[in-house]
This record gives sequence, structure tokens and C-alpha cells, in this order.
Amino acid sequence: MNFSGIDFDTYFKRYPSADGYFGKYGGSYISPELKAAMDEITDAYFTICKSTKFIGELRRIRREFQGRPTPISHLERLSSSIGNVQLYAKREDLNHSGAHKINHCMGEALLAKYMGKKKVIAETGAGQHGVALATAAAYFGLECDIYMGTVDIEKQAPNVARMKILGANVIEVKEGLATLKEAVDAAFAAYAEDYENCIYCIGSVVGPHPFPMMVRDFQSVIGVEAREQFISMTGELPDALVACVGGGSNSMGIFSGFLNDPVDIYGVEPLGKGPSLGDHAASLTYGTEGVMHGFNSIMLKDENGNPAPVYSVASGLDYPSSGPEHAFLHDIGRIKYDAISDDETIDAFFKLSRLEGIIPAIESAHAVAYAMKLAKEMKRGSILINLSGRGDKDMDYIINKYGIR
Ligand SMILES: *Cc1c(COP(=O)(O)O)cnc(C)c1O
Repeated sequence: MNFSGIDFDTYFKRYPSADGYFGKYGGSYISPELKAAMDEITDAYFTICKSTKFIGELRRIRREFQGRPTPISHLERLSSSIGNVQLYAKREDLNHSGAHKINHCMGEALLAKYMGKKKVIAETGAGQHGVALATAAAYFGLECDIYMGTVDIEKQAPNVARMKILGANVIEVKEGLATLKEAVDAAFAAYAEDYENCIYCIGSVVGPHPFPMMVRDFQSVIGVEAREQFISMTGELPDALVACVGGGSNSMGIFSGFLNDPVDIYGVEPLGKGPSLGDHAASLTYGTEGVMHGFNSIMLKDENGNPAPVYSVASGLDYPSSGPEHAFLHDIGRIKYDAISDDETIDAFFKLSRLEGIIPAIESAHAVAYAMKLAKEMKRGSILINLSGRGDKDMDYIINKYGIR
């Protein structure tokens, strides 16, 4: 299929380019030492991802440990409550450890093992990536250092406990505002010191090359499974596909399976409290081109051009940029990006729980809310939602802030 002059039949062969670009986005804006370490990971990945042993082992892990394939559920009662459009959910919430993040963490940790590394390093904000990586590290017998700001450690006590139980070292970062940005800096610094023994595991399709490509490839299992399952359930493709976009990994995972199909694709960003800078984290909807955390993409900037403060009710979505491939697909118009408010999200959270018996992660509830809105406009057809994770982690927050509706 051709779209804006881009031939999607050969898309994955050409994007990213050898130096990690999707059009003008992506690349690798880092120090020479880190660049050398990233080049080593790129070379290893290109060799290993073609090995039948690596592929076979990843497949076995997905089946025997993660619980893949995850099913697609027809959301019949939610659909009827809106009209004639049929809503379906790809159930990434049913992955071991509760969300899609385990898809790339198992891949990254298996790569570390093949490269002969002893340790995996990462930062975490809300703790979801830290927990998924600690799970993978425990499975493979790797050491695991997770950098986390003091503020987040206090806010996310249950995830800190999970990481520790899984055997990870949670390293407190006290500098600056002591949140995600400082944790990223500290984790990068630690990695630059010791890259011979460890591998840095980024938590989404962001960061310098090869991570946006590698994380997409590991997440693409969602799209491959979903396309086959949806066709075998209904005999056709969905009319529309909807996923929430923070850094953009769960969405890139499902979208990658349908880019070459006549399917309308929607990426849903967090509008938070509204469109004023600081009240949301809708970087593709409101941002401009810029470099942060080692890659060029579309980002939200403050008046000095630095990453702007962002807000979302879903802590997994509050990042001031998104992956470079999203920026590219945004510019060529293959994917439409739009934003959903906190209020619409919470409404969808309770509706999906009550009508379908599925309590979604607040991140995923953004996608559900958007699909509900789209269903009203479309009148007929089908929408496939990527349900990126389950809501167990959000129970205390929901009960305290919203009570039971
Ligand atoms: C982390 C997270 C997200 C956001 O990350 P992406 O890289 O955009 O997928 C979405 N949903 C859940 C459940 C998460 O844990």
C-alpha cells in the first residue's frame, strides 16, 4: 500500500535507516562513549535477531512464561451501550506482570544474555518498566539496577517493593526534582561507566538508535497476533485501530501489524486537564521538533526549548515526547493522533470495568475512551483497541481520588 509517497510493502526494510532515522526523526544524539556502546548493541541485535536459536527461545518464553498469545475479546456489552459499532480489545493486560512492557523486557534481557552481559540497567518513573525489567532479570539470572527519583520512590511504594522482591537494586536519585528526568541522567551515567558488563534497557520506543527499532520489533508480536486473530474471529480486518501513546511502545507494537492495510489508525495521547502547556502530555498533538534523551522527535518544550513539565492522570503516559517513528508516521499522516482528557478516561475506566469485567490500566483507559468516542461518530464497523495493561496498580489512586462510581 502506498501512503503519502511511502511504500508500505517494503516499509520495515527501509525504516529506520542504517543510522536509525525515520525520515528526519530518530538518530543518536549522545556522547562518543555511549555511541560506541549503542553501536555494540546494534551489531549484536542485527546478528542475534536473525538466529533461529534466539527467535526460538523468545517464542518459547512468550508461550511458557508470559502467557502469549494473548486473546482478543469482543466487548459486546460496551459496544451495545454505544450503538452499532463493534469494539474489540487485544488483551495485553493478560501478560504475566500485567502489561505489554514484558514483551520488550524479555527481549532486551535475552539479548543481554546472548551478549554475555551480567547486568541490566534502567530508569523508571512510575515503576512499571522497573518491575517488568526486574521480572526479566530474575528469569534470566541477571543483576538489575533500577534508578528511580526520591519523589517517585515515595509515590510508588508497591512497585518499589515488587522490584526488591524480584531481586533488583533500586537506586535512589536525589538530584534536582528527583523524578524521571534525573533518573534517566543517573542511569545513563552509570551505564557509560560500566557498559562492558551491562546493557541499558530503555522502556519504550524512545532513546537513541537502536532502541526505537528494537523495542518496536519486540512489541510487534502484538500486531502480528492481533491481525491473524481478528481475521479468524470476524473474517475481515478491523475498520479502525486505537492505542494509547506515552513513549509509544504498545501502540507501535499493534500498529506495526496493520500499517500496510486499509485500516484507520489512531494514537491517543493524554490531554490531562486541558490544552495549556503543563496540563497535559500530548506531545504529538501539541509539540514541535526537538532533541531530548538522545533522539530527535516531536516534543513539548518550555520557553527555553527544554523539555516542558507534563501532566497526566496516567503516570505511564506523562513523558514530554514520543518515539521518532510516531513523529514520522504523524507527519506523513499515516496515523492520526488525538488527545483524551482525564475525565473521559476515568469514565471509560469505570464503563469497561462494569460492562465487561475488565479493569484496565488508566493508560489503556485513554484508548478505550477514544474508541467509545469514535464509535459514536462511525455509526457502523469495528474498532480494535490495544488494552496495554491491567488496572491493579491503579486501585488505591482511583479509590482515593474518585471513589467508587
Ligand atoms: C508504560 C505503559 C504505557 C505507556 O507506554 P508506551 O510505551 O506508550 O506503550 C501504556 N500502558 C501501560 C499499561 C503502561 O504500563
